[in-house]
Amino acid sequence: MNADLAAVLEYLQGIGWEEVYAPALQPAARGAARAAATPAATAVAACTAASPLAPAAVPVAPAPPTAPPAERAAHLAQVGTEASVCTRCRLAEGRRTVVFGTGNPDADLMFIGEGPGAEEDRQGIPFVGPAGQLLTRIIGAIGLARGDVYIANVVKCRPPGNRDPQADEVAACRGFLEEQVRLVAPRVLVALGRIAAQTLLGNELPVGRMRGSWHRVFGVPLRVTYHPAALLRNDALKRPTWEDMQVVRDVLSVGG
Ligand code: URA
Repeated sequence: MNADLAAVLEYLQGIGWEEVYAPALQPAARGAARAAATPAATAVAACTAASPLAPAAVPVAPAPPTAPPAERAAHLAQVGTEASVCTRCRLAEGRRTVVFGTGNPDADLMFIGEGPGAEEDRQGIPFVGPAGQLLTRIIGAIGLARGDVYIANVVKCRPPGNRDPQADEVAACRGFLEEQVRLVAPRVLVALGRIAAQTLLGNELPVGRMRGSWHRVFGVPLRVTYHPAALLRNDALKRPTWEDMQVVRDVLSVGG
């Protein structure tokens, strides 16, 4: 067994997956993938046959980034500074820290969650509590590290008592999220859980109806999967989440 495969299996075991459904796990090739993936190539890029839920093709690839990575990263930092003093909605009153986003500002893959919890509010970093630790392992299971991807939430401030963010709060924060997606310019977005997916897709469907196919948000292909916190409560969601992540991994590896 090669070292990469052993590492992936170890991750899967760590998050409670006892069976692996992919005959061949190929960690996504990084760097070259973004350079090599032309919109036309990605538009017809078949996923590898290894994925149980492999769609025939990714919809249409995102437009290539309009500015060089360093310029986009500087602009992203500037937007983060603006967000850090935001008072556009009532969530500003109860927060300790604005949790803007973290990770590679030039990532191929961007995760979008719901909103910061208590630990995130304390540390100012998304997904650092128990659900975040599971997300880190899920990222590892597709051959990436947390620092390879970009992670953000639909709202940047903790809703009191961890309640769902309200529509006006999400609307007030949407501009920040849109800027994050535009500036990171990922090749694929993953919505984690119902709130993120419903917010991004503008519907009220359950996650089970939104996952399993490609969507498009802010011009970028989007996949929906379960929130890691839901996986901590319900073991049965681990297998479909792993299937979703295999599809994402396969698409990212095309062109690389
Ligand atoms: N849940 C989320 O949706 N986001 C976080 O940052 C942490 C937990």
